[in-house]
This record gives sequence, structure tokens and C-alpha cells, in this order.
Amino acid sequence: MNSRREFLTLSGAACFAQSNDVPKWKSKVIDIHLHWRQDLRMDKDANLVHMDGCGVDKAVLLTQARAGDAAAAAVAKYPAKFVWSVAADITKPDAEQVLTAAVRKGALAFGEIKYHVAADGPELRRAYALAGELGVPILIHFQEVDHFEGEGKWSTGFKNFAAMLKAYPKTKFVGHADAFWANVSADYREEAAYPVGPVKKGGVTDKLLGDFENMFGDVSANSGNNALSRDEEFTSGFLKRHQNKLMFGSDCGCSNGRGDGLGPSVAKRMQGKCVARETLGILHKHLDGGALTKVTWGNAHRLYKIKA
Ligand SMILES: [Zn+2]
Ligand SMILES: [Zn+2]
Repeated sequence: MNSRREFLTLSGAACFAQSNDVPKWKSKVIDIHLHWRQDLRMDKDANLVHMDGCGVDKAVLLTQARAGDAAAAAVAKYPAKFVWSVAADITKPDAEQVLTAAVRKGALAFGEIKYHVAADGPELRRAYALAGELGVPILIHFQEVDHFEGEGKWSTGFKNFAAMLKAYPKTKFVGHADAFWANVSADYREEAAYPVGPVKKGGVTDKLLGDFENMFGDVSANSGNNALSRDEEFTSGFLKRHQNKLMFGSDCGCSNGRGDGLGPSVAKRMQGKCVARETLGILHKHLDGGALTKVTWGNAHRLYKIKA
């Protein structure tokens, strides 16, 4: 009996590992971090190709304002599959006007917002205030360690972000990227983009998610996957603690939801892998039932006010 059961388990696992199979996740999945793809050479919508390849049901398409009309058209064509989020250059004087116009056209959020400015600087403050006024969440890329020479930093000063959460209580902030995720550990000193090893309790990110109603987290990208892969015990507690605040996102660059077509800039540990598959695997390992559904589906629907 034992060997028979073992055989079944092993063959089941092997079957799942085959990249040709689309994983069957235990809950419905919305990807809140899918950079909008428009590949007119393909006979199928390129966003759907990625989603269908990794078992994602719905996605928030992150779109630059100049492509807003095309994104809105994609949403109109596939209303059960897509909603969209808008980004505009917040260092330009017309940013508020552009972002407001996109929300009037149906964008449900600002993001991703990624510019070489301080997290408490005037450009981002204007965006925070406007997001609060319009009632849309704002997704921010926090990064303080360059990935390549001369890259520069993005939304700097995450360690002091509590001041912004207090200053803009009506605004819903969604944290993302290297500095947001590296700061799960209290000993992070900006020495690496993707720190490894055991997480030291009391990190800024853990604290902000716990202390502030308006702080949320996007588990996407290598940064989110790395933070949730370095210390199993931490991951389990962190996901359960913040099950009402965290949302699944991929920020994956692969073409098909199977890890193919990744560019040279992809992090070494993610080469040949689809981030969506990897991170959904982690979420399934540590969460189940209602908690899992909140992180892969429910929280995003509530925060982005998406009709189910
Ligand atoms: Zn980003
Ligand atoms: Zn992928």
C-alpha cells in the first residue's frame, strides 16, 4: 500500500512539474502586476497567453497613460479577464491631469509608479493626494540598490514611509519591489538588492503592514519571491499575519506562463522560470482555504473595487 501511495504521490508531483501542464490552483487567481503586452503578431492576446499558461484567471494590466485607449479597449473586449491601472510621468506638470483623465476612462488604480524621486518628495506627494481624492490605490516601486551601473534609485526612503501613511490616511498604498521586500528583515542596510538568509523579526515592511490600515503589499517579481523564499518559518507567519493585506502579482517577463522568452536582465535565480508559477506555488505551500483565496483573489477585488 505504502509503495503504491508513494508512487502515486511521486507521479503526481512529476506531472505537475511538467511545464506543458497548466497548474490547477486551489483558488481563483488575479495577477495585480501584469505589464500590458501588445503583440500584434500573435493570433491570441499576449496577456492571455501568459495568464492561460500559468493558470491565472484575471489580471490588472499596468499601462502607461499614452496606451490608455488601447488598454481600455482590451478591457472592453475581455471584461471578465482584464481591468487596468495607469501610470504617467509624475515629474511632469500635467501628471495630475493625465492620471485623472485615465481614471475617468476606467483605470482602477495608479501604477506602477516608478520614478527617480524621493518617496516623501513633492512629485509622489501630489500622486498620493490625488489617489486618495479619486479613491484609487497607488502601486509604488521602491528600490535603493542599483541593478546595473548608473541605474539610479526609485522612490527612495522606504524606511521612513510611516510618515507618508500618516500624512495621507485616505490613500491606499501598495508596496512593491526590492526595498519593500528586503525590509521584511530588521537588519537590512541596503547592502544587496535581494538579500538572502534568515529574516530578522521586526522589519519595517512587517511593521507598516501591521500598523497601518492603508499599507498593502504586492508579492510580485523576483523581489517578492525572494523575500518569501529565504526563511520558511518567517514566510508562513508573515503570509498568515497579513492575509488581508497581501495580493498576488507576477511582474513576470516570460512570454507564455511557462518561463520561456525571458530577457537577459532577469535575475539568475528566476532564469527559465515563470514568476507567477513560482510565487503561486509558495502561496499554496503556506496558505489554504479562505486565507489563500484572499491573497490570490479577494483582497485585490476589494481594494481595486473590481466587480467579481
Ligand atoms: Zn516594479
Ligand atoms: Zn511568466
